[in-house]
Amino acid sequence: MRFDGLIGNAELKEQLSSLAVSGRMPHALLIEGPTGSGRRTLAGLLAKAAVCRHSDAAARPCGICPDCIKAAAGTHPDITYYGGSDRARSFSIDTVRTLREEGYRLPNEAACRVFVLQNAHALSLEGQNALLRIIEEPPKHLRFILTCRSRFELLETIRSRTFALTLRGVSEEEALPWLRENFPKQSEEDLRTVTRLYGGCLGVIREALSEDDWKNSLTLAPAIAEAILAPTESTLLAKCNELPQRDPVLIQGVLRELRLLFRDAISAKCGQSERLSPSPETAEKLAKAMTAGQLVQLLDTIAVLEKMQFRNINHALFITELCAKLRAAVGR
Ligand SMILES: [Zn+2]
Repeated sequence: MRFDGLIGNAELKEQLSSLAVSGRMPHALLIEGPTGSGRRTLAGLLAKAAVCRHSDAAARPCGICPDCIKAAAGTHPDITYYGGSDRARSFSIDTVRTLREEGYRLPNEAACRVFVLQNAHALSLEGQNALLRIIEEPPKHLRFILTCRSRFELLETIRSRTFALTLRGVSEEEALPWLRENFPKQSEEDLRTVTRLYGGCLGVIREALSEDDWKNSLTLAPAIAEAILAPTESTLLAKCNELPQRDPVLIQGVLRELRLLFRDAISAKCGQSERLSPSPETAEKLAKAMTAGQLVQLLDTIAVLEKMQFRNINHALFITELCAKLRAAVGR
């Protein structure tokens, strides 16, 4: 199988290639990975490979047969995209009902029909149960490709009937050639910093670099971290209120940078010299002012906040929770 446009993830590519070449590709695939890790790109490649007419499975998707061309243009009649956004419950049960009816129609042109269900974690439990009915006993001509942040956000019954594929952020070395080509004006140091900041998830890195506001997260996060220990909550609240509404990439950047800072502070406490955050002086300050237990609590809190960011809560409530949870982690 070919993976044009999907960077890194060598192990996953090998696994998929061997399934494709041996003709053992499961009928329902579940792609999991953080936002920006390439879920949509991989789903597109797999859908295209399923309809591609090239005689050699190793060369699919060939990109030049009529099916590949239609798939690339988004006009292939046997590939249908369904789904929601990253937000909870944005994938409606009515969409599942529609796809269940549609699923029994025979393919128009290709040997199979492919349903791509994007952000399946945005389905309600009711929606997942409705989906299960067709995934359990699908018509022979139907293939499913589900994408989600984490397979554990889906029902166990869905997980057990799909084949999980895990995408990961790529390493700096894997990301850099692509970044240099696409962002030639950015310095090497900035490209490395932003890759670390967003955990090698190129989709988010691209968005962050296009807006150029990722740098704000590198000034805001250390200020928030240092405000956690202020005597009154208002200092921290004022800093958190600088987070703009409707800028998920910046909010994600701040949470990621806080994670790196707390991690670096723990390393400093353990006497290790490796630092991932570009603000080592803040990490030193945190290491002096906080106990290891508090820092570990803060790291756990970031994981909770990262999940919360995608729930349907309004911005003001998110800021309030951010403040309260960070202070609670250090016992304030
Ligand atoms: Zn093709």
